[in-house]
Amino acid sequence: MEYDVIIIGAGPGGIFSAYELTKKRPELKIAVLEAGHGLDKRRCPIDGEKVPSCIKCRSCSIMSGFGGAGAFSDGKYNITNDFGGTLYKYIGKKQALELMCYVDEINMSHGGQGTRLYTTAGTKFKKLCMQNDLHLLDASVRHLGTDVNYVVLKELYDYLKDRVDFFFDTPAESVLRSRDGDGYEVRCREAAYTGRYCIISVGRSGSKWMEKVCGEMGIRTKSNRVDIGVRVELPAEIFSHLTDELYESKIVYRTQKYGDLVRTFCMNPKGAVVNENTNGIVTVNGHSYEDPEKHTENTNFALLVAKHFSEPFKDSNGYGESIARLSNMLGGGVIVQRFGDLIRGQRSTGKRIEESFTAPTLNATPGDLSLVLPKRLLDGIIEMIYALDKIAPGTANDDTLLYGVEVKFYNMEVEVDEHLQTEHDGLYIIGDGSGITHSLSHASASGVYVARQIGERA
Ligand SMILES: Cc1cc2nc3c(=O)[nH]c(=O)nc-3n(C[C@H](O)[C@H](O)[C@H](O)COP(=O)(O)OP(=O)(O)OC[C@H]3O[C@@H](n4cnc5c(N)ncnc54)[C@H](O)[C@@H]3O)c2cc1C
Repeated sequence: MEYDVIIIGAGPGGIFSAYELTKKRPELKIAVLEAGHGLDKRRCPIDGEKVPSCIKCRSCSIMSGFGGAGAFSDGKYNITNDFGGTLYKYIGKKQALELMCYVDEINMSHGGQGTRLYTTAGTKFKKLCMQNDLHLLDASVRHLGTDVNYVVLKELYDYLKDRVDFFFDTPAESVLRSRDGDGYEVRCREAAYTGRYCIISVGRSGSKWMEKVCGEMGIRTKSNRVDIGVRVELPAEIFSHLTDELYESKIVYRTQKYGDLVRTFCMNPKGAVVNENTNGIVTVNGHSYEDPEKHTENTNFALLVAKHFSEPFKDSNGYGESIARLSNMLGGGVIVQRFGDLIRGQRSTGKRIEESFTAPTLNATPGDLSLVLPKRLLDGIIEMIYALDKIAPGTANDDTLLYGVEVKFYNMEVEVDEHLQTEHDGLYIIGDGSGITHSLSHASASGVYVARQIGERA
């Protein structure tokens, strides 16, 4: 075997596997194969002028490369078992939390020091939410911010680069059991690599490839959910009492009409709404910077409804994709609508958006979201906006902006045991690619977890 451990994917899952292996077993020979570029070469060509929209690069610099999908994200590490994945089902709640705290310590010692850790512990907002039929989930949130997140990744790379062999622009094509049956051969376009252990951590962008590998290796999978909704943008003052204390509040509401759960997701105080491109489909997202000079006047967050299809239709992601395609067809990209226009049943126009007291941070097409989102989902989102208006008056103002659509795709869940090992000895699947995690902290924690398992065995 050329390597003791081969890691496929250099997102948080892969990075923290490599980090922990180098700490616990520095003598092991480790290779990291990554489809995207090294951190310093990751640059999205969209500049709003010469390149106004996605030109479908072979490797998308937003989703791929050292740092994975989270490299240019808001860098919110949520330390909680209440959301962000179901790692705790495999490794227990206590251990999952301990590992997330450990990841936080590593981030703090690699450029993240001085950033703030927010917590819901002891907050008065829990009661206020309950009094209004809303439910605040428990979490501690480390907000690195897009700027500091990059610094942390750079420091982690500087630490790893002399201890691990990195192969960038090297997408793995197949994973096979090695000829002697005592390890794995990972085939790429120009070379093949062999290793005793193999950790697959290919995230969302590797979902199709992951499905293929599972098919080829007989690893069982089951369908996952898709979350569909809108991104809400409003003046930062409206949510400042919550965001100043908690930064991000995950609030859940059960709709009266259908009994569906609607939740807030990815809150960005004084942040910006941005486009996100998933396989050529433009959806919406948001982020914010730690640096006060880069703050905006607005806060944004998503309102999402989860849909999980199983029988006879199983393709939850396909359903989400069709809704996103419809919005792209009508708006040429993301659509923006004032809440007041939505309620009055009229589309927003350029003039109405211009006259709005809330200035949009994303240049989206004014339109009508009721022509895009299914009634059941839209009714739930409207109910939730009125519910939030009770704890943050002003949320249901006419000028609150809604961008659509926001879709959170999840990978199908792969069958692994309590060690996150597949039925093939020495083959582990972790992070968002496993369908078990959906966040920076859970994906990173899963990486540390398997590294420790392998560290004890190798
Ligand atoms: C815009 C945006 C903002 C986000 N903000 C937050 C946030 O604030 N907080 C939070 O908790 N989460 C956030 N997320 C989600 C978070 O980024 C992911 O949950 C996390 O990155 C998952 O880590 P991972 O290592 O499992 O996968 P990824 O980060 O997706 O990394 C997987 C890596 O594998 C590589 N890969 C794929 N296929 C192959 C292959 N065949 N061969 C080799 N390499 C391959 C990819 O190029 C990629 O670099 C955000 C995501 C996005 C897109």
